[in-house]
Amino acid sequence: MVVEIISVGTELLLGNIVNTNAAFLAQKCADAGMSCYYQTVVGDNPQRIAETIKNGLSRSDILILSGGLGPTQDDLTKEITAEVLQKRLIMDDTTKDRIQDFFEKRNLEITVNNWKQALVPEGCIVLDNENGTAPGIICDEGEKTVVLLPGPPNELIPMFEEQVIPFFRQKQPGVIYSRTVKLCGVGESKAETIVKDLMDTQDNPTLAPYAKTGEVHFRVTAKAEDDQEAQKLVTPLVNELKARFGEAVYTTDPDVTLEMSVIELLKQNGYSLAVAESCTGGMLSSRLIGVSGASEVYKTGMITYSNKSKRKFLGIKKNILEKYGAVSEETAEKMAKGICDQTKADVSISITGIAGPNGGTDEKPVGLVYMACCVNGKVTVREYHFSGNRTKIRESAVAYALTLIRNCVKYDKK
Ligand code: ATP
Repeated sequence: MVVEIISVGTELLLGNIVNTNAAFLAQKCADAGMSCYYQTVVGDNPQRIAETIKNGLSRSDILILSGGLGPTQDDLTKEITAEVLQKRLIMDDTTKDRIQDFFEKRNLEITVNNWKQALVPEGCIVLDNENGTAPGIICDEGEKTVVLLPGPPNELIPMFEEQVIPFFRQKQPGVIYSRTVKLCGVGESKAETIVKDLMDTQDNPTLAPYAKTGEVHFRVTAKAEDDQEAQKLVTPLVNELKARFGEAVYTTDPDVTLEMSVIELLKQNGYSLAVAESCTGGMLSSRLIGVSGASEVYKTGMITYSNKSKRKFLGIKKNILEKYGAVSEETAEKMAKGICDQTKADVSISITGIAGPNGGTDEKPVGLVYMACCVNGKVTVREYHFSGNRTKIRESAVAYALTLIRNCVKYDKK
């Protein structure tokens, strides 16, 4: 089924609020195995809302509109939807009682315009709103369905999860089953090129790529009558992805993160880990320590930001820093060796780079990052050129450092 998301509200168009409802709805619809080809944001304007609904009905099976169900004059979503579907608005007594109850419980006076919210299109399914007054509405016209949801996320989210998803399941019987193949150390465009033929021919199961900083995830989703059948459809494609990406696949479990897989790998090898960070300022340690059970492998982390601290805590010779600079292959290597010597860890990782926006030169531009990984005394050094702002560069460095630890430990094992 093809779903289309329409977000109503002039404040969304002006950028006054971020359209988190659309992101939430899109994700949930994808999880439910529905395809979404269009998302629209439209202001509180009757003609344009009507036009958007008509366009949506001409190309999608289900429209989900959010916002504009409030009691005021500019809340028009329901009225316009009823007009386009040629439905009368009638008073829904259950909603009327609920609104009365809502105001009485809060000791608030009901204003006349609040009753507008109890009007619903004839023949629709009314969705209770536990957190506000506007009811949700489903107009199920057989081949086409229009779902109206209130704008506030604390009203929309529970209503969608508890009432709309079960409705969709009824409409589209069967199960949806997904697995996620997560890769590290492969760029998004390269990853997509490797699976282009699979993407071009996808139907059931579908294959969807998601790019994360330093990672690419492929989600394989199948629709079938039961779990067993769905798994049968998904497994060959997951295996094909594993075969094509080989060592770059770090998990097929949606709940496993890259840092979890690194901790697990170190545990399996009985290795301890020490971290020496400069430009990432503890972000790598933070990701690693965010994993429950990290204490079994994580020994020590140091943020050696200044040259002085690199010398004092990691034992890097002054002449190395003077000759090659703090951001250099040589310094990264000595940092990794230095922290291993200090802590006697089996594995260490170092990161030193220029996160910007200042400090870059022609020779050493912003985004240049060196890192080194030492496994049982053997050091591997890598040079990277990341793009983006300071945060993005630092986040990329962390993701690639996790990948480097993983690759070095795996390589060492062979
Ligand atoms: P109400 O009954 O509260 O008037 P409504 O259905 O009329 O709800 P809007 O008036 O359009 O909804 O929006 C109310 C509030 O909900 C907005 O001020 C905003 O905080 C939030 N909201 C609306 N649309 C979105 C959206 N797409 N993403 C995130 N938040 C939203």
